[in-house]
Amino acid sequence: MNILVVNCGSSSLKYQLINSETESVLAKGLCERIGIDGSQITYQPAVGEKETTVTPMPTHTQAIQLVLDALVNPKTGVIKSLSEVGAVGHRVVHGGEAFTTSVKIDAKALAAIEECNDLAPLHNPANLIGIRACQELMPGVPMVAVFDTAFHQTMPERAYIYGLPYEYYEKYKVRRYGFHGTSHSYVSKKAAEFLGKPLDSLKTIVCHLGNGSSVCAVDGGKSVDTSMGLTPLEGLVMGTRSGDIDPAIIEFIAKKEGLDIAQIVGVLNKKSGVLGTSGVSSDFRDLESAAGEGHAGAKRALAVFAYRVAKYVGAYAAAMNGVDVIAFTAGVGENDPYMRKEISSYLGYLGITIDDSANAKRGSETVISTHGSKVTVVVIPTNEELMIARETAALV
Ligand code: ADP
Repeated sequence: MNILVVNCGSSSLKYQLINSETESVLAKGLCERIGIDGSQITYQPAVGEKETTVTPMPTHTQAIQLVLDALVNPKTGVIKSLSEVGAVGHRVVHGGEAFTTSVKIDAKALAAIEECNDLAPLHNPANLIGIRACQELMPGVPMVAVFDTAFHQTMPERAYIYGLPYEYYEKYKVRRYGFHGTSHSYVSKKAAEFLGKPLDSLKTIVCHLGNGSSVCAVDGGKSVDTSMGLTPLEGLVMGTRSGDIDPAIIEFIAKKEGLDIAQIVGVLNKKSGVLGTSGVSSDFRDLESAAGEGHAGAKRALAVFAYRVAKYVGAYAAAMNGVDVIAFTAGVGENDPYMRKEISSYLGYLGITIDDSANAKRGSETVISTHGSKVTVVVIPTNEELMIARETAALV
């Protein structure tokens, strides 16, 4: 069955058409600047040239229509008609406590997703717009919602309750949820498969290090703790997000800079992280090249980032009373040997030693620790779209 995987943001939409039997990508692409001047669609068939077309997309429905038109285009399309799309899998950021697994989308599920809008006001409304646009254009095609939070619903209470008045949890569901669940689930499974070890007896720490970054403790295939919280702002220092800070900083900076809470949260989300600490860039390639030229801010940002990841790895080794496998994934985790080595340099006490020549390789599953290392360290490329396609195929 062909599955259209849709990841809909407020002004962008990523898509892939995946054959669920062969797990091959037939075509993929991106709609950008939806509802803004200068919108464009990129379409990349598995065989053939990548095309970019600048064309008006006032709404997400028009964007999806353009995606469907590209897929069935007689010259460059990959299917003859839309009847060859068997199902649609939608990435949904926040499933709150309502969703512990992926679900087939019906009116009840839509209403429950809408109830989570409060928890992810930047993401869930956009995800819902994408779902409704697909329903309008593909009536009768089954659709599935795959949540970033669902994998972490196995966290024990001690890991998800904040040290706040309990009534905030009871009244407003303020608790830790965690994100990147699709990636943490995929990578922990794939690591076990790749190493030929049974997932249910492995203690794995997954380091998803990209623009947004999070660490997850996976014990026997289940998430038992993760570094993001109520929102994706908690935890690691990220590209532009601060991660953990002393909450009192908010009032302190509000008074000093004359900012209100929303403005400060804007700073914490968009102007902090390695961008803020370096004053250079949120991109690790830029940071490493600046650090190589002696830029103090870039060196500082890289050091702070690596140290925070290492601290979380230590915390999760403690949370699970041990660790068998550490898996690096996402843009930085997959492509940045320097950062992997920096992080690993704190982990000697776990008996970890890195094989520098294995660590230098790129692009596929690789063990980067030495034979003698007590913990196996691996690089596992993540594939959230494939995971969404698998979940969708399993449910329809
Ligand atoms: P997102 O969270 O947006 O999905 P990705 O997982 O794609 O992010 O990661 C994007 C980040 O990966 C970039 O900001 C960049 O810092 C980093 N990255 C990509 N390639 C490299 C590389 N070769 N070396 C170092 N960092 C890289």
